[in-house]
Amino acid sequence: MVTNWAKFFINGAWVAPADSGRQIPIYNSVTEELLETVPAGNANDVDRAVRAAHAAFPSWSALSVAERAGYLRRLAAGLRARVEQIAPLISLEVGMPIGGARGYQTIRASEFFEMFADLGESMEFEQRIGDSLVIHEPVGVVAAISPSNFPLLLTLVKLGPALITGCTVVVKPPETAPGSVFHLAEVAEEIGLPKGVINVITGYGPEAGEPLATHPLVDMISFTGSTGVGRRLLQLGSETIKRAHLELGGKSAALVLDDADLATSLKQATDQAFTNAGQVCFAWSRLVVPRSRLRAAEDILQEIVGNHRVGDPLDTETTLGPIVTSAARDRVRGYIDGAVREGARLVTGGRSLPDGIDRGYFVRPTILSDVHNGMRIAQEEVFGPVIALIPHDGDADAVRIANDSIFGLHGAVFSSDAERALGVARRMRTGQVDLNGFKLGGVAPFGGFKQSGLGRELGSFGIQEYLEVKSVQL
Ligand code: NAD
Repeated sequence: MVTNWAKFFINGAWVAPADSGRQIPIYNSVTEELLETVPAGNANDVDRAVRAAHAAFPSWSALSVAERAGYLRRLAAGLRARVEQIAPLISLEVGMPIGGARGYQTIRASEFFEMFADLGESMEFEQRIGDSLVIHEPVGVVAAISPSNFPLLLTLVKLGPALITGCTVVVKPPETAPGSVFHLAEVAEEIGLPKGVINVITGYGPEAGEPLATHPLVDMISFTGSTGVGRRLLQLGSETIKRAHLELGGKSAALVLDDADLATSLKQATDQAFTNAGQVCFAWSRLVVPRSRLRAAEDILQEIVGNHRVGDPLDTETTLGPIVTSAARDRVRGYIDGAVREGARLVTGGRSLPDGIDRGYFVRPTILSDVHNGMRIAQEEVFGPVIALIPHDGDADAVRIANDSIFGLHGAVFSSDAERALGVARRMRTGQVDLNGFKLGGVAPFGGFKQSGLGRELGSFGIQEYLEVKSVQL
């Protein structure tokens, strides 16, 4: 059954788009059939939504933090009550296996609202510095533009801090996976969130995203997506000196040191890198192993990949589903072909559909060896289930390889010596490093060095991003 989301959520009501004839089709990533449609918003729709958020700002920001926290907790509960509607939808849009779509994409996502409610209530928004009263105030109207891979979660990690501080928001979800954000709007309506606090419009980036990022009544752009679009938004926002919080791309490296248990390290690294079929900004898509253990690593990886169950993400046995669109699949295939042309060797995987599958946006889990860090496959974000295996000649060389990137979002170190691993982590120019396996920080700040972003999301650092600072001399 095709779901048609025909209207936008603006000022607490469902309103017809300015140009109601234009719908965006979203296809089922498994069957390639039409799954849902959403309106293609334009500058007129954006203007209505921004004006609603602007009008709602004075009264929303005047509520107490405890009152706003109450709304956040009710939103979280409302989303959790819909887990069986939201999770399968995200699975079919994005391709993530249903367990992860329930756990990470929906339940964990809703818990972020509760985390921001708790944190907000525990923070001081005023302080005395000398003879001055320093007041931390909400920045104003936030344009929240979110990406395809975690469409609800990465919207909520913007809305949580924005709402708890007293900001109002216009959300533009990805046009490739927008359905869960319509559920969020329905929950906002159900719980009686004051009108105009959350507004949702859909559309293509240039038609709906750009008018939002340039609107004079928008105070802040909070964007998660590719580095190219982030760069464009930074330029556009500069006209009106908007605050920009950018969570962008990555090409993160997992460094396996020579004292690490190879099999355990490689299993943990591939589990992380193949989560959501590699559609993860912080995927450890470069796996850097001691040169002397390269061949052994290839054998182990071949076995690990062979154990993956590629298929329908709604099947609970599936470990690796398809990716979001045919264009994304073709792009990933292009990277695999390009790597082989540049001299990489295919250990396993490749451009063809996985065995037993004849349609859908599937990509075989792929390991490329004999990669050196100068190749495109080691420098550019692939955003699919593709790992570049790179040899290193000791800790200093491994760190050099990790840092030889325009990105700096994430990374990992595997070693049996905790001090040594921490020493290596300190030398990596990146926003996060996990020691000996993937760990979701949750309340720790998340964000990128270099071209992986500006600012930090999550926890109290995430809340600070949405605050202005006023000094009153007493
Ligand atoms: P994308 O950049 O193509 O799109 C992201 C959003 O930006 C979408 O809503 C899209 O409609 C909008 N957009 C596109 N062009 C625009 C424009 N000109 N003006 C305004 N808005 C525009 O990214 P995607 O494919 O949806 O997501 C994948 C990317 O997101 C990857 O690069 C990934 O690394 C990154 N990402 C980063 C993080 C992080 O926390 N650092 C998290 C998840 C994803």
